[in-house]
Amino acid sequence: MNSIYLDHAASTPVHPEAVQEMMKVMTGQFGNASSVHTFGRSAKRTVSSARDRIAKLLSCQPDELVFTAGGTESDNLAIFGALSATENAGKHIITSSIEHHAVLHACEELEKMGYRITYLPVDTTGRVRVEDVQNALTEDTVLISIMYANNEVGTVQPIREIGELAKSRGILFHVDAVQALGAIPISCRDLPVDLMSFSAHKINGPQGVGALYVRRGVYLSPRLHGGLQEKKRRAGTENMAGIAGFGKAVEIASAHLEERRDHDLMLRQTFIRLLEQELGQDSFIINGHPSEFLPHILNISFPETDTETLLMNLDMEGIAAASGSACTSGSLEVSHVLQAMKLPQNVLHSAIRFSFGLGNTTEDMEYTAQKIATILRRLRNRS
Ligand SMILES: *Cc1c(COP(=O)(O)O)cnc(C)c1O
Repeated sequence: MNSIYLDHAASTPVHPEAVQEMMKVMTGQFGNASSVHTFGRSAKRTVSSARDRIAKLLSCQPDELVFTAGGTESDNLAIFGALSATENAGKHIITSSIEHHAVLHACEELEKMGYRITYLPVDTTGRVRVEDVQNALTEDTVLISIMYANNEVGTVQPIREIGELAKSRGILFHVDAVQALGAIPISCRDLPVDLMSFSAHKINGPQGVGALYVRRGVYLSPRLHGGLQEKKRRAGTENMAGIAGFGKAVEIASAHLEERRDHDLMLRQTFIRLLEQELGQDSFIINGHPSEFLPHILNISFPETDTETLLMNLDMEGIAAASGSACTSGSLEVSHVLQAMKLPQNVLHSAIRFSFGLGNTTEDMEYTAQKIATILRRLRNRS
């Protein structure tokens, strides 16, 4: 049976060169980067060299990067860490209703702690309006957290404009750039952003490692207390192999960014064209923004069916796609992102996210489009 992975927005295969880098570290090194002996110094060099490498590619200083256990921790560290460092400044936060749960659930926690949160709406393409951010600002606003690009529909947000607004008011600006990394060229120096979250496993690096960019001068109080690692911003022995693999993954992603973009765009266009041929233009709806999107994320509704049925049937044909957000305990919850986009019920309940990446081919698109047509025909005949 075919095995086609179209869920790269959830996690990606680790690039062989990143695996190699990690193997080299895991088999050849075992010191603690905090130890002063030769083994420790060697471990420290491994971590530093990955940090230098990533900093160079993201146009920031090495000491502006804090290694974490992934995107979720980076988001939490950014939000809680920056707020507790500005404790008496204000109690209002602006975010959007389409953030990843790592941000949304952190904000819900903050509400319990006495913060007031504005969850901005989005338009039907999944975009935050800059004027909505402006209108939400108060004297009490201390933090704005808006994602670079959405993980369910791929819509890219007006980060620069929002950042400039935040900067002019002296408000901290956090950006979850987990999906943008490797898809959009990112320069921390050029963006009006104070904190930016990254994760390795969305860019063909290992799971369980990521980074938070913290602009120099932005104070961050640690969430994990312990050793002095990461300049006292994140205690705990470094995930040395993971960090080395992350470094390699960022290097590969940066070197092949244009190439990857072109390839993903080609796959996307091919897939849409094939669906049009197989199903007719009126049988599916593309969710998201028509031009401001990440090429690797394609969210489509097939109003004839429902998400769960189609996903299960695709899985039986060896095709792995996803509903917007990962399903919890086997039951599909309607995506908070599509809901915020105020899509009609039948569109909401029949959305599938196809996300492309390393290893996907035109043949995968052909096979998938054909199978979708077969499945829909079968379901139609049954009802
Ligand atoms: C995957 C993802 C995260 C979480 O990253 P982990 O490394 O899996 O914790 C956060 N934000 C976005 C936009 C994501 O896609």
